[in-house]
Order: sequence, then C-alpha cells, then structure tokens
Amino acid sequence: MNFNNSSPKQNILPLLQSTSDGWTRRSFVQTLGGAALSAGLLSNFPVAVSAIENSAAKSSSEKNDRPHYRAIGWWLTFDDLTWPNPELMDKIRRRADQCAASGVNCCIVFGAHLRWDFMPLWERFHDELRFVADELHQRKIFLFDHHSATIVHRPRNRDEALDIWRRNRHHVPFYPSRDIAATWEFAGSHLNDWRMLDVETGAPVFVPAYTAEQFCMNHPGFRKGYAAYVKKLLADTGMDGLMSDDMIFYADWRACGCKFCRDRFKCEYGHDLPPVSDTSFWGNRRSQAFRDWIKMRFQTPADFLAEVKNALPRNFPLLTCCSSSDNFYLPSFGMSYQDFIQSCNHVMLEMVGQTPAIEGTWDERVPSQLLHLDIAGKHNAPCFGLGYGFFPDTAFFIWAVNKFLGSDCWFSTVKGRLDASPTELAALADDSELVGEGFNWEKTNSELFRGEAETDTAIFFSRATRDFYSEVIGDYCGDYNASCLNLSRENLPCEVVTEIPSLGKTRCLILSSVMCLSIVQRKQLADFLYVGGMVIATGPNGYYDEQGNPAAKPWLEEFGATVELIEPDRPGNFPPYKNFKTPVELTKCRVPESFQKTFQNGWFDLPVSKGRLLWRPERISNKNTRAAVAALLQSRYQSGVKISGLPDGWMLRQYRDGNRLLIHALPGKVVTSLHPTLKNQMTKQRIVEKLVFTPLVGTVALNSQLKFKSVRLHSPDLIQPHVGSTRSANEWIVETANVSRYFIVECEA
Ligand SMILES: [Zn+2]
Repeated sequence: MNFNNSSPKQNILPLLQSTSDGWTRRSFVQTLGGAALSAGLLSNFPVAVSAIENSAAKSSSEKNDRPHYRAIGWWLTFDDLTWPNPELMDKIRRRADQCAASGVNCCIVFGAHLRWDFMPLWERFHDELRFVADELHQRKIFLFDHHSATIVHRPRNRDEALDIWRRNRHHVPFYPSRDIAATWEFAGSHLNDWRMLDVETGAPVFVPAYTAEQFCMNHPGFRKGYAAYVKKLLADTGMDGLMSDDMIFYADWRACGCKFCRDRFKCEYGHDLPPVSDTSFWGNRRSQAFRDWIKMRFQTPADFLAEVKNALPRNFPLLTCCSSSDNFYLPSFGMSYQDFIQSCNHVMLEMVGQTPAIEGTWDERVPSQLLHLDIAGKHNAPCFGLGYGFFPDTAFFIWAVNKFLGSDCWFSTVKGRLDASPTELAALADDSELVGEGFNWEKTNSELFRGEAETDTAIFFSRATRDFYSEVIGDYCGDYNASCLNLSRENLPCEVVTEIPSLGKTRCLILSSVMCLSIVQRKQLADFLYVGGMVIATGPNGYYDEQGNPAAKPWLEEFGATVELIEPDRPGNFPPYKNFKTPVELTKCRVPESFQKTFQNGWFDLPVSKGRLLWRPERISNKNTRAAVAALLQSRYQSGVKISGLPDGWMLRQYRDGNRLLIHALPGKVVTSLHPTLKNQMTKQRIVEKLVFTPLVGTVALNSQLKFKSVRLHSPDLIQPHVGSTRSANEWIVETANVSRYFIVECEA
C-alpha cells in the first residue's frame, strides 16, 4: 500500500521532492518562482524562505548567505495515527495557515519519534508527512523531519510502560510487544541483532531515561538499514531537511561491547577491549588505549552520520540533536558537534529544561551556544537554538535569547512531559500560535539580525583537554564555563574558538586550565604573542600534548615560568569515575616564592616581543581570579561601543555588519511567574507561564571612537524606533522609554 498516490499536491512542487539530481537551493528557488534571487548568491545550502523574501535587501557586506530559520515544532500525537481523514487534513491546513501568519519558515517534526517502532506504519505515516509538506510548501514553509535513528522503546513490565507514558508521551510511544519486536527484520537483518551490548554483561543495554534499547552505530546491518530508511523517507515524503537524533552512546561507558565495536577497536586502534576488572584501562586517562576508546566513541557517530549524509541528496540539510559540546562527561556519550559537523551541515543546540529557568536566568546557555556558534561559523552552517516553553512570554524570550546570541530560533513546546489532563493539554496553545510576535518582528526587521560578533577577545575551548585529561568538571570544563560566564556577565564581548587564531580579528586570547596543547598550538600561541597578541592564562596550562601524553617541557617553562604541578592520584575504576568522592581534589600549580615575587598584581606579566603573556596560578573558578581577569579586560581598549545608563543585569552583544554596528541588549534576569499546577514530569519543576520585566527609563549613552551618522533604538516593544542624538563628538544618547524586554541599537557610520 502506498498512500503517496492519493496525495493531491504531489506534483505541485516536483523540484522539492528528493531526486537523484540532488536537492539544491537552486531547485527550491526556482520552484518558488524566486528568479529575482541572483545566481551569485547560490551557496552550499538551500536558501531559507526569509532569504528569498529579503534577497533584494541583502547587504553585500554580509559574509555569507546562510539561511535564517524561524522554526517551530510540528507536533504529532496519537490522533495522527488515524491518518487519513478529512478532519486531520483540515487541522493540518489550519495549523499551516497559523504558521504562515506567525512568520514561521520552517517546521520540524516532533512525535513518531522512535521511528523504528513505527515500521509497520511507515507508508501510512509518510503519506501524512507528504500531505503536511505539501501544505507547508504552498505557504513557503520548509518541513524538516526529526526522529530518533537509534533508540526503540522496550518496556519490560507495566511500571516501565507507565513511565514511558508519564515522561515520554510526546514521542507518540507506539512500540511493539517485545516478542513481536524480536521477529522484525529490515534490509536483511533482525533489528534485535543491531542492539548495543553492555561491556560487562554482554546483554543488550537498557536506557532508563527513555525506557529504551539502542542500536549500535558500528553495526554494518544497522547502518545499511537506516540508510535505506532515510532514502525511503525522502522518496515518500518530499521532506526538506532531516534531523537524525540520538547519535550517542546513551548507556555511557557500558556501551558498546558488541562484536563490531570490539572489532573496530582492534582493527583501527590496535587494542582488545579489556574486561571491566582491568582498571589500568577503564577510567584511566593516562592509558593510551582508554584514550583511543574515547576517540572511537566520538568518531563512531560522525561515521554513522556520514552514511546518513551519503543516503541523502547532495547538500540536503542534515542535523542531529546535541545539548552540549563542552561538558566534561561527553566522552562517556561520544557527543560533540565538533564531530557531528564532519557530516552535518546544520548545527543545533538543544537548550534542555526551561528558558528562562525558574530563577529567571538564562545565561547558563552561553558557554555551549558560543561553542556551537563557532562550529557553525567555521562551516558556514546555520545554527538553531532549540528552546522549550508553553506560553507567549517564554516563546518571545526564547526567540530573543537566540537573536541576542546570534543563532536562529527553534521554539517548541513539549506537552508530553507535563502532568496535564487531556482538558488541560487541550487548553494549551500550539507552537504556531505562540511565536508570532518575535518571528514577525524578525521577518520585518531582518536587517537587524546580521553581522559578525564585534569583539577582539576569544576564549579557547580545548577538546583535547576535555577528552584526554579531564575526568571531573573541575579539571577543565568548569573553568571553560566559568570563563565564558565571567566575560558575558561583565558585558565583556567575547567569542569562543576551537583553534589558536592568528593575530587579526582576535587580539586577546583566554586560556583557562588548558592542560593539553600540541606542539603546533604552542607554536601558534608563540606567533600570536610575537606579533602583538595578548594571552591571558589561568590555572595549570600546557602540561600535556594533544593526545594527553606528558609534554617534554611544560608550556609556561618556555617563557621562563618554573611551576611545580601537584597532581592528585586518580586510580581507574568501572564504571569510570563513579568512585570519586566530592569534593574531588584537583591539580594545582605551586609557585616558588622567588618566582612569585616577580608577579605584578598577582600576575606573571611577561612582554613577549610585541605581545604580552599574563598568567595566574589560580583557576578561573576562583572568584578573585575571575575579578582579576575582568579588571584586566576592562582596562583594555574595547573596539565597538561602550554603553552606559542601563540598569545592572542587562546583557549586551555587539555585531558588525558593514558600516553598521548592531548592539543587542537583553535582561540577564527576569521575574518568572509559574503556572499554578502544571509540572514537567522529567524535571519535576513547575512550568514558567509569565515573565515580568522592569521597564527602562531615561536614556542610554553610547561612547565610541567610531563616527556615526545615525543611531536608532529598535525594539519589539516600540511601534517606531527611538532616534538618537549627539551629545559630543564621541557620544550619542538615545531614549529607552517604553522598552522593557529586548532592544537593538543600530549605529550607522
Ligand atoms: Zn557496538
């Protein structure tokens, strides 16, 4: 049975459908009749609708023409399993109309999430997706599919089944009985043969958070099977993009002990996977074999995604879920967009939990999102920030947070996680009804959301230190995090970099407990200093190479700093790191008194040719160190504009777009008002319903060495922008009346 033949819109957008010719931006533009879009703008990516809308106004100064998405979740529920019927068709059309009215240009499927569990329904379900895609395409809106490629719900008793209903109802958990699942075959193999196996017991792994089993990304049968599914999905649905989820080892160090993982470890890395009793391997970061096991954990998802990419037309939008690429525990899961990007061409950061948090803060997102923005920027890829909320206030705020940081907004509800009755659920609005204010304002004012971050300061993120050295948060990742938050909370503009830059845009580089530095990186740091760069380092840095082997000479010794390193003894264990008792002792630097005497204001401060190296032995997690770094940066000349007159707690980010500076401002903390009853059953937290903002009063002053022709303050809170006036040669003032939530000052030189 193929329901595609019944699709009335099947031939309207033939160029959108996947074909052997590949799905290209050009085909989409042609399909939409966008002949005005010049061939010169063609990029590697299909253009988003916003770019088509604004092609005429596109500034030549914009470095790239990556699409800008305004995305929401297209939620499916058990009702969708009744497809096809006229009521459902009407409901889809009405929702598509609402998307168009709210300025949405991309819908991303949520639900039917554990896609293998729907195998008997694929064609019926794909036909519905074909219908949704057709309706959205008529309204110039993309449809991306989004599903889990690797996990399957497999409850073992009624309690576990109830747990799925309580916490993961939004998956539309339509799973087979376990004995039936055992008979399922696809592309020549039994699905059960694909399962990840526990390295200790050899039994299939179980993932309690999802009440699930997981398929192994190193299993050739699974790779072949999933590639076949992806081809079928595209042929059946006419989808515009794919988010293929769960490319990680959910059972962490317990996965995976299957034959294919063991064979790969032996063939590619030259090691047998030892039994869990071997503590010279498990949890021992000084073991080359264990570090190789970590390497393979990160490479496995990247390789699996490469097969997915190969199953798709050239340049077809591909992304995968990722809630962090900077956390210390990621080697246990093998999760990092630094690897996913080998095959994906879109980046996403899932902002798990609520935005803002119940406390009203949101900047915990900054370290992860700045890293993802660097990865996206390097690959000229769009970057989605997926935030969850249920009401217009949080939808607006999630949009504003994303625009502030420079990412595209993907807003979504996640109603299946709520302890709500069917009546309470029905009373909650659809995603498409919540986003109109921010999305339409962005659509109308797209020229305000351009440009590159205006800063000469960068924080270096060292994945080698995370992967091959750090075992607990305090070893490195906590310091990376503290470094990002320190600067953003002090309104010191910064970026994150994953490579040591040459002196150019970046003139000041921050290293916070970067234990692993390669010979090449040391040379790059020296070059950066010699030609005039400033390096600010705190805590232990450069005692190991990029593989985690002890360096012949510690990095600082190259600059005459002799420091004793006190490293705690950390025996291996299985599961790794479970035996650590908090607080875990961290590596410290001990500075001889004679050397300490040469310090100035607590800094080892060394001119290096035209540049300057500053170092303190204490980590950035130390409050005094944070204050010292902030004071040092405050004392430097900052390019861009200095703003004064804003209440404490407002955060600022500046972007340069040709002759314009765009200064985004957002409160770092707001007051949240919680829904009287509804709670998220995963986090056990009540959900945020309303946000209370404090209106601004008076004017803000802008000081800059740059000469501006005009200064205008735009805000979704205003009907017309406030126009600024000059107070002196280098100072402008601009009114803030009636603004409380978010504003952008546009300074034109
Ligand atoms: Zn495996």
